[in-house]
Amino acid sequence: MIRLAVILIADQFRYDYLTLLDQKFLNSSFVYTNCHHKHIPTFTAVGHATISTGVPPRIHGIISNFPSVEDPKFGKSPRRLRYPTVGDEIKLKYPESKVVSISLKDRSAIFSGGFLADVVLWLEDGKLTTSRYYRKPEWLDEINGKYSLKDEFFEGNRFLLEVFKEVLRREGLGKDTFPDLAILSLSSLDLVGHKYGPNSDEVKRVVKQVDTVIREILRFLDKEVGKGNYILIFTSDHGVAPIPKNFGGYVDEEKLGEEIREILGMDVRISYPWVFLNREEASAKKTIKEYLLGKEWIFRVYTDEEVLSLNPKDFVDSLVINGFDGSADLVFIAKPYWVVGYTRGTTHGSPYSYDTHVPLVVYGLKKGKSQEGCYITKVAEILREAFNLP
Ligand SMILES: [Zn+2]
Repeated sequence: MIRLAVILIADQFRYDYLTLLDQKFLNSSFVYTNCHHKHIPTFTAVGHATISTGVPPRIHGIISNFPSVEDPKFGKSPRRLRYPTVGDEIKLKYPESKVVSISLKDRSAIFSGGFLADVVLWLEDGKLTTSRYYRKPEWLDEINGKYSLKDEFFEGNRFLLEVFKEVLRREGLGKDTFPDLAILSLSSLDLVGHKYGPNSDEVKRVVKQVDTVIREILRFLDKEVGKGNYILIFTSDHGVAPIPKNFGGYVDEEKLGEEIREILGMDVRISYPWVFLNREEASAKKTIKEYLLGKEWIFRVYTDEEVLSLNPKDFVDSLVINGFDGSADLVFIAKPYWVVGYTRGTTHGSPYSYDTHVPLVVYGLKKGKSQEGCYITKVAEILREAFNLP
């Protein structure tokens, strides 16, 4: 059995960015060319939880970025997650195994690691930190003294690479016969992509950095763990929409909430694509639905009851079915190229392929390519098989 699996998640890495990577890496891997996040919304917390658990948001319960990791008892924790991660399963089956998860973002690190991870680190006020939920590594202060991050946009990848190698070394991952799991989620591309858009030179520059990170991690693993003893899975939590120009536009989520509160007199909370009513009334849902359908940018609106009878063969409906966990009162979907929640730059979250289609590259098993459609839950499936998990 392999000694170590590494999941490398590049936040907001759209499938087409693969052309900018070292083709040698792709040629020596197994590439799933048609792998998607088949749920809405295509956001960071939702995507990471789906990758780590292998079940859709409908089941794991992480349906938005906020709230996601907040915890009154521990500050931050995975308590909202309703399904164990693969890391948890490894720890249950092999208690001597180690699970490590690192990112600039708390939600990426926490939902990748799960409940039983040994080390879960993210960045807060320029320092690596963890919460009272997890063990505080005895070397954390030392590492914080050694590495610092000034520019999360363009220095974040280099910073995380150095920290990742150091943590793997200090925790001895891949050094014994108990299988270990390490997840590194590179956040910088997401920050840069939101601001500059997918067609910018800034995004290209950071994608090239991701390429360097992959190459350096492989070199590190060859040396420290040995070829054949590890696998590396490269993927992403979601893609990104083009910056709206002559098509599409911006939908201001906050303004929309204000409008509904003021014009319709309904107390709502909007977190795309969800509408939460503070008081549930069937007539209120109908009124809000009609109001939303009057917007030029709206594609579809469903009440919670309507979600129960959607058509799984329709591509938008099927993504709504996978994403809806029963808590929202309405679901609304904007037309393609309309970005919701941002008033400049761009974002993600939609059911369209620019947001759902991501790379899934598996290095260390067989080589080849599959063009068959696949759900990103495939990552957990591959790991369960590699680790002999039930
Ligand atoms: Zn983002």
